[in-house]
Amino acid sequence: MITAPFDYHLPRSLPEALQLLIDFGDEAKLLAGGHSLLPMMKLRFSEPAHLIDLGKIPELKGITEVGNEIHIGAMTTEHELLNSALLVKKMPLLVEGVSQIADPQVRYRGTIGGDISHGDPGNDHPALMLALDASFVLRSARGERVVKADGYFLSLYTTQLAPDEILTKIRLPIPAAHSGGSYQKLKRKTGDYATAGAAVQMHTQGGKIDQIRIALTNAAATALRAREAEAALIGKTIDASNVNEAARLVMSICDPMPDLRGDAAYKTAMCGEMTRRALQVAYQRANQA
Ligand SMILES: Cc1cc2nc3c(=O)[nH]c(=O)nc-3n(C[C@H](O)[C@H](O)[C@H](O)COP(=O)(O)OP(=O)(O)OC[C@H]3O[C@@H](n4cnc5c(N)ncnc54)[C@H](O)[C@@H]3O)c2cc1C
Repeated sequence: MITAPFDYHLPRSLPEALQLLIDFGDEAKLLAGGHSLLPMMKLRFSEPAHLIDLGKIPELKGITEVGNEIHIGAMTTEHELLNSALLVKKMPLLVEGVSQIADPQVRYRGTIGGDISHGDPGNDHPALMLALDASFVLRSARGERVVKADGYFLSLYTTQLAPDEILTKIRLPIPAAHSGGSYQKLKRKTGDYATAGAAVQMHTQGGKIDQIRIALTNAAATALRAREAEAALIGKTIDASNVNEAARLVMSICDPMPDLRGDAAYKTAMCGEMTRRALQVAYQRANQA
């Protein structure tokens, strides 16, 4: 299949891109790495008359440490995230998650901003963002707003992003000492989307968990935060009984869509299992950090 015809625009600044969004309104689509948008255009699920390529806007790139946060430009590629010494040191959960996204070819072009903006519950960044307590910086001609990842993903392919807004930056608090994370993803083969995935980030004090965030990939129409499972683990260590109870609570909120990767019961069970594994690894890491 080939796409419907479209005009291609290559703005060199953010104000120029925002103006193009205003000029073309509903007929425009932003283009990042193109690895989700172009397949949809080829299938004619999306037929924008104007494509606005964000690839030449310098302020949308880069990974920097700002105070106690890491700031990542929306057009930063997965390849750049994977090879960032700063992230390896300060945000290892993100690097572990990115290493499991697709394959090198996709990671060279695909961007963190595109992965988040697409709003696909099968993408890995939404759950990673929930576990890492990310905030998203959204810019429009009306100004800038900062929105928490928690609550950002509304339904299948739908987020809080307004049609005239661009996601410019992702802000992530740097985890404190005695923090540990893990992303566990079940996939049928290298390069595949998750059958089920669990992202866990925790902090321990004297061997007991005092902060924890658990988020799930492909468990429902959006990435899910497992609040009851989190609450059940506060003040606890990780042992078989606590892990099993957390997995039970996780499975109780799963409502996955059946597809070629499995039926709902299988995917739900795998969310539980990925959570068990992520909890054990994250706990070990938190106590070593
Ligand atoms: C074979 C294959 C395997 C894959 N496997 C995985 C996987 O395992 N895990 C995973 O997470 N992903 C996977 N993907 C998806 C891939 O990561 C995509 O790159 C990602 O979903 C979209 O990022 P992109 O930069 O390509 O965005 P695009 O495809 O260019 O854009 C996606 C959507 O986001 C919008 N958008 C892009 N940037 C912005 C912005 N800054 N502000 C506002 N809106 C924006 C676009 O308008 C579009 O609607 C896979 C893709 C392929 C082709």
